[in-house]
Order: sequence, then C-alpha cells, then structure tokens
Amino acid sequence: MIIFKEKHALKVYLATLKAQNKTIGFVPTMGALHQGHLSLIKQAQQRNDVVVVSIFVNPTQFDNKEDLAKYPKTLESDTKLLESVACDVLFHPSIEEIYHKNIVSESFDFDGLEHQMEGKFRDGHFNGVGTIVKTLFEIVEPDNAYFGQKDFQQLQIIKKMVEKHQLNLKIKGCKIFREKDGLAMSSRNVRLTKEQREIAPFIYKTLKKAKKKFSDKSADKVSKWVENQFKKEPLLKLEYFTIADEKTLETIIKKESDKKYRAFIAVFAGEIRLIDNIQLKN
Ligand code: AMP
Repeated sequence: MIIFKEKHALKVYLATLKAQNKTIGFVPTMGALHQGHLSLIKQAQQRNDVVVVSIFVNPTQFDNKEDLAKYPKTLESDTKLLESVACDVLFHPSIEEIYHKNIVSESFDFDGLEHQMEGKFRDGHFNGVGTIVKTLFEIVEPDNAYFGQKDFQQLQIIKKMVEKHQLNLKIKGCKIFREKDGLAMSSRNVRLTKEQREIAPFIYKTLKKAKKKFSDKSADKVSKWVENQFKKEPLLKLEYFTIADEKTLETIIKKESDKKYRAFIAVFAGEIRLIDNIQLKN
C-alpha cells in the first residue's frame, strides 16, 4: 500500500493510473477502522482496478468540540488493517493540507435534505461533510465512491451533491455492517463503557420491533411506542426517532404505498452519540 499525505503527490500518482485506463474506487473515512469500513473497501475492490481510502477526521463537520477531541485516532492499526486487506492507496492528509489556514465550511443547498434529522441536531454538520467530500472528490477524482447506509442521510446528501454539481462519478450505498448482537459498527463504539456496550444493542432491537409494528400501525403510534421503550432504559437517552421518506427524508405524514420509508434513530449513551436506521415495509 502506498501512503500519501500530500494531495499533489497523490494526484500525480493517480494520473498515471488513469492514463492506463484504470478505474479508481474511493472510500472516504475518519479512521478508527472496523469491519463496516472494510465491507465498503471490499465492494470497492470488486468493481475497480485501484482502491483509495482516505483517513481524515474532518473538523468542520463536528458541532461538538469534545466529540472532535475524543474521536478515536488509531492510525497505526488502521494502516495494518488496510494492508491486510490489500488496499492500494491510503490518503492521510493533515488539516493544513486540506484547509490551509482557513478551517471553515462552504455553504451548500441540498434541497432541504440537510434540514432533516441530523441537520436539526448537529449545526453545520452537512456543510462540513459537503466541504470535505467535495474537496476529496476533487483530489482523487474517483470513478466510484462508497458510502455506508449507516449514515443514510449523509449518503442521500452526497448523491444530491453529485447530481447538483454534475460531478463525474457514481455513488454506491453499502449495507450497514453490524456486530453479532446487532449494534451497528461505529468508530465511536470503542468509547462505550462495558455497561453502555451491553445495553447498546437495545437500539437495533427496538428498530426491528418498530419495523414490525409499522406494518399495521401508524407512524405516530410506532414513534410513541419507541419513545416509551427508551424511557425504561436509564443508560440510553433518545434524541430522536423518526419515520421518513427515503428520498426526501421528510417525516411521514400518511403512509403511501408507492413510497419507501425508513426509521431513523439517534441515541446518547452517556456523552456518546449513536445513530442507526432500518428500512421499513409499508
Ligand atoms: P466514518 O469513518 O464513520 O466517517 O465512516 C466512513 C464511511 O464508512 C461512511 O460512508 C460510513 O457510512 C461508513 N460506515 C461506518 N460505519 C459503517 C457500518 N457499520 N456499516 C457500513 N458502513 C459504515
């Protein structure tokens, strides 16, 4: 695996591969890699000649300074893991390399997708995400880029950005990779205490039950039921649960048979914020 810290050197290297008609698959990450990230890399490897992974903890997408400071950084083990799965290129730039001295976001209009769910609770988050992903796309110029459905709103927003800015690449959404007990894999999981880790699978269990209930109950009834379930769990604090249209991400008002819905959840275990989602059947 070749490691680049400088965008110019990476661009020069990738240009030689592109001149040989090699396709580039790109997996942007913030590091602290786990099997979920590896599942994206595997899919990228199946469809591209060369796979580039980036590791960059993007400061502008954090609305909470403490969350940014405590974000796990495990570059050495990440590098070993990437080598073990035969990743071709790692791009690991410094903050300066990306932002120079001006650590601010661009402002984006994602046709309202940015105002739903995470957008309501994480101020400026999606402007930060848009800024870093657009910058990385300009550096790597991939043919395909891979994003997890774990961050479903982010995935839809990136697709919107590609459409609106007419970027020349395809966005591939990848399934949520879970621990055996159902907890969605996340870099933040390592920060959970033993007690919090034990109770955390309750989130996905509740999502699965909500999915069942949604087949014959209204979204409102299901939402109230979920809120009540979390009231019984003192170690978990529900931030939001919402059932929304997969395309617009707007909260459902009335079930319509031709629409696809998904349930979205954000929960605090102490100060650690966990998100998850599940596709629903009407
Ligand atoms: P992150 O490093 O958390 O920014 O994640 C980098 C990419 O990996 C994003 O596209 C995430 O949606 C994706 N990802 C993170 N966790 C999972 C997971 N458990 N399953 C699938 N994709 C994931």
